[in-house]
Amino acid sequence: MDLKSMLEQKNKKWKSEFKITETHSLPMYVICGKETGKTLVITAGVHGCEYVGMLTARKLYKNLNCQEMRGQVIILPLINEEGFYEESKQIVPMDGKNLNNVFPGRADGTISEKIAYAIEKDIYYHADFLIDLHGGDYNEKMSSLVFFPVEAKERVNAIAKEAAKRLPVSYRVQSIAKDGLYSYGTQCDIPAVLLEIGGEGKWQESEVTHCEKCVYHLMDYLKIIDFKEERSSQKEITQVIYEVAQANGFWYPMISLGKYVSKGEILGEIRNLEDEVLKRYTAAFDGEILYYTVALGVKEGDSLIAYGRE
Ligand SMILES: [Zn+2]
Repeated sequence: MDLKSMLEQKNKKWKSEFKITETHSLPMYVICGKETGKTLVITAGVHGCEYVGMLTARKLYKNLNCQEMRGQVIILPLINEEGFYEESKQIVPMDGKNLNNVFPGRADGTISEKIAYAIEKDIYYHADFLIDLHGGDYNEKMSSLVFFPVEAKERVNAIAKEAAKRLPVSYRVQSIAKDGLYSYGTQCDIPAVLLEIGGEGKWQESEVTHCEKCVYHLMDYLKIIDFKEERSSQKEITQVIYEVAQANGFWYPMISLGKYVSKGEILGEIRNLEDEVLKRYTAAFDGEILYYTVALGVKEGDSLIAYGRE
C-alpha cells in the first residue's frame, strides 16, 4: 500500500518502508487516528550518532494510541541508517555528505541528495507540520533546545514559533538555515522545528522520555492528541554566534553548558602539540552557552561552540 492510501485509513498502524531508489528504502511508521485531523511528520537519525531522537521515534510508534488520535503521524526513525550502523559523525558514509545541508536534493544525485529529493517529493507533501529530532553529536555537549525558522513566510514562522514555545526545553533559538531537512521544509511552506536533546554519543531513558513529551506537547498544539502538562520556562535566543576552528589543533573549552559568559571572557583555546596557543576564543557579548565540542582534536572548520543571547 502506498503512503497516500495508508493516510486515508482510520484507526491503524503500519510498519512500512519509504522507497528512495529501486535498491534503497528507509524504515517508516504510519499511525492513523480514529478521527480526522492534521498530519505530523517526525524524522530522526539524520545524524547517525544522535540516539535520543531515534529511540523516541521507535517509542512513539509503540505508545501512540490510534483510538485517542485525531489525524495522522508519519515517522521516519532512521534517515541516515548507514551512518547509524557505522557510528558516523554528521555524514552519510556512502557519499560523505551531511544530510542537513543537501536540501533541495536531486533525483540523479548522490545517495544523500536522493534521500533529500524523496523526502521533498513524497513526505513534505503530506505534512501539516514537521519535527526533526536531533541531539549533540558524539563530540558535542548540547543544551536541550528547539530551533525555529525566522526566514520562511510569516504564517510558517508564526506557527513554528508557537509550537517551539510549547516544547519543554530551555531555549528556543531563531534559525536562518534553509538547506536542511526541516529548514528546507519551512522554505516549502511547511511549519517545522528542529529539536535537540542529548549528546556525546550517549542516551538515557530520561532523555528519551523528555523527547517523547516534547512530541506530545507538539501533538497537543496540533490537536492530534490531548496532552496537558506544566512546562518549565523557556528563553528565546535571538542572536547566536557559532565559532568554528580556525586551525587544526588541541581544543580546550573553558566553559560549561548553560553557563552565562560575559563579554570578553575566554571561551576556549586551540593549542598545538607543543601546548602553545594558536587561537583564543572570547565572548563577543554577554550570553549563554548552547553547545560546544568536547573532542580534544579538532580540524579547521569544525564547529567549536555556540552561544547566544535573548
Ligand atoms: Zn544533528
